[in-house]
Formats: sequence, C-alpha cells, structure tokens
Amino acid sequence: MDTDPTSIIAASYVIVGAGQAGRRAAETIKELRPEADVLIIGDEEFLPYDRPPLSKQVLLDETEEEGAFIRTREFYDSSGIRLLLGKAVVSIDRPAHRVNLVDGRQVAFDKLLLATGSRARRLSCPVGEGTQVHYLRSLVDARALRKEMIIGRRIAILGGGFIGLEVAAAARSLNCDVTIVEPQDRLLKRSLPAAVASSIQGLHISRGVRFLVGRTPVSVTRNGQGQCVVELDSGKVLADIVIAGIGSQPNMELAGSAGLEVENGIVIDTCCRTGDSDIYAAGDVTAQFSRFHGRRVRVEAWQVAQYQSAVAARNMLGGKQEYDETPWLWSDQYNWNIQALGSFDLPGEIHLRGDTNTSCFSVWNIGGGGQVFAVAAVNCGRDISVARRFIKEGSRVSTSKLEQRDVPIRECFEVR
Ligand code: ADP
Repeated sequence: MDTDPTSIIAASYVIVGAGQAGRRAAETIKELRPEADVLIIGDEEFLPYDRPPLSKQVLLDETEEEGAFIRTREFYDSSGIRLLLGKAVVSIDRPAHRVNLVDGRQVAFDKLLLATGSRARRLSCPVGEGTQVHYLRSLVDARALRKEMIIGRRIAILGGGFIGLEVAAAARSLNCDVTIVEPQDRLLKRSLPAAVASSIQGLHISRGVRFLVGRTPVSVTRNGQGQCVVELDSGKVLADIVIAGIGSQPNMELAGSAGLEVENGIVIDTCCRTGDSDIYAAGDVTAQFSRFHGRRVRVEAWQVAQYQSAVAARNMLGGKQEYDETPWLWSDQYNWNIQALGSFDLPGEIHLRGDTNTSCFSVWNIGGGGQVFAVAAVNCGRDISVARRFIKEGSRVSTSKLEQRDVPIRECFEVR
C-alpha cells in the first residue's frame, strides 16, 4: 500500500479496528458482495485475532496463539480484504468522508465502520515508578504475562472478575502461588448471581487460590528486595507479579471527537448506525438499545463482536436488519465451563436447578409469569442452549418443574 504521506487511499467500505468485530464485518461484506472494496485499518501490528483465548490457553502455551487468529494472511489476500495494520486512525473528517492516519495519510470512504473495541481499565491507586502492573487485553499483554508466569512464582491478581479468575486458573496450572484481591463483597458481581460466584470461588479455593474479598488496593510498589507490594485498605500482599483485571473502557474517543454521540460507548441504533448515516459501529465499543434489557447497554462479549458486526455489515450494504441477540457469555476455568445468558440485573426471582455443591447446576432469574430473564450454568451448556431457543420464542418456564433436575429441561417450558 502507498506510504506517501500526502497520498489518499480510498475504499468503499472502511473498517477501523482490526479485531474480531472488524474481521467479521469485512468477511460479511465480502460474502454478500464479493466485488466490494473493503479495507480494515488497525493500530496493532497483528492480523485480526479473537481475545477469549488470551486469558486462557495462550497464557500457557505460545503455540496456542495460532488458534486465536482464526484467519491466515492468505485468507485476506484471497478474499480481497485489504489490511492496513500498525496504523492508528487519529480523526474522522465527516464532511470529507475521510479518516486521518497517524502517519498523515488519509483514507477516503463511502461507508465507515468503527470497531475500535475497548481497553483495560487502569488502576486508579498510585503505582510506584518502575513497578509493573500487568493488564490483559492484547496479544502483546498476553505475551508479556506469559513470559513472567513461571512455575512457582507469586501472583497477585487485582479483580475477581472473568479475567482475574481465568488468569488464576492458568497460573495454578503452573503451580504459581495466587492471591486474588476483590473490593466488592463477592466475586463476579457484574455478571453472575451469588450462588454461581460462590461455587466458582469454592472451585478456586480447592485448587489452592487465596482470596481477599472486600479489600481494596491502595498502592502498588516495589520493596528493597524487588518484590511487588500491594498495599490494601487493610493488610498487604507480596508478589513477584501483579496483574489487574478490573474491567474495560470503550475506545470511543475517535467517535466522540468527530461529534458522534457517545455515552459509555458509541451510541448506535438497533441497525448499528450512528447519528451519521454513513458511519456504523460494532462490537465492545457500542452502546445500543436492547429489547431484552429495555434500555441502552454496552455488552462486552465475543457474541457481540461476532454477530452485531455482521448485522452492521449487512446494513452498510443497504440492509435493514436489527441486532437483537439475548446477551450470552462464557468462561473456562480449570475443567469448568461457565455460561450466562440474559441479565441478572432484571428484577426476577432466583431459582436453582441442581445442587450448587456439585459441578453441574444452573441458576435462573425468572420474571412474573415465568419469563426467563437470565440463566447461568456451570458445566450445563444444554440448559443454556435450550433456554436460548425458548427465550427467543417467548415461551414461559414452570419454576416448579425447573427446580426438579430429573425433569428434562425442554419439558420445563410451555410450548407455544
Ligand atoms: P474483567 O473482564 O476485567 O474481568 P469484570 O467486570 O468481569 O472485568 O471484573 C472486574 C472486577 O474487578 C470486578 O469484580 C470489580 O469489582 C473488580 N475491581 C474493580 N476495581 C478494582 C480495583 N481497584 N482493585 C481490585 N479489583 C477491582
């Protein structure tokens, strides 16, 4: 591609962000309109990759990186998807239909997709000079952590959410000494009900992880022996490595400074369009009205990158499809698979299916009249897949049947 700073590159469909959402959107455009001129621009040097493996197998084994990439260079070449990697877009010139690159070049577009994702939220407490706190968002982050995660080392993990717990599981398989610090009164408060969180905590304790719950880090420094010291509101943790997994923030500055509406994400309509009819957004960075929640939400999940981006792509080609998936996420820790569908924020009653003392059960959030608001399942993917289908159909569930594990899950729903 031309590197003359005064030159203008052009493509009909320009995608900013070479992550999973950007890749999926590009692929969808090409599937639907093979002759379309599609360009993905990404600030990372890498081909697009999926992030879920980064906090799991990629932390343990370099050869697992390959699987995260999904597509090879040949795939992009043969499908005619152009890539401009290692270049950040610094601004959008909406009237001129151009984006400006960090190296001074401009890229002209007919339709633009912003798939800029999110970044790790940084610790707000003081961190001493020369004290490294790891974050885990990119392949570069995962590589840096992998290099440090050596058998037997002491790791302090700040944040008892998905990232923290997945890193803990990986670290324990290397026999590292792991302590998790969580300021809230329990783990996984953002996304899972208490019963599931406490059973996951039990799993980690049985594997030797130590928890300091309800304790807040107030500083991270290095002592004279080169150890990291995480000072807490009460007590402290000494460690060789400190990693913070304390949530994420949407990369929405590009959209905001171009005058597009942003509010905890780039605001898009149900068809993934921003207030500018030629600019769309997809993935972690978006805030979109959800029929399921009855309000605008930003959902960070593989599912959004995978499916919302395809909806955006169709609409960039003139379609009128709406994104309307029931939120779904999963996590793998040790030999457990944990999944959650829907929302535990919606005001329903909690019902348990199975026994939380076993490693196979599900917890349900049920609204009045048997409407399923959410289900979280431990090693019970079938409950999730059946629930997903019946939620889509608007079927109601019988809570008394649901609570009897021997009643097959399909028979718990009324068939419409
Ligand atoms: P992630 O995807 O990064 O794991 P989650 O929202 O699932 O994000 O979990 C983040 C966790 O970090 C939450 O349990 C939250 O309470 C916790 N947390 C937030 N701020 C801090 C902090 N300063 N130190 C330790 N943990 C924190």
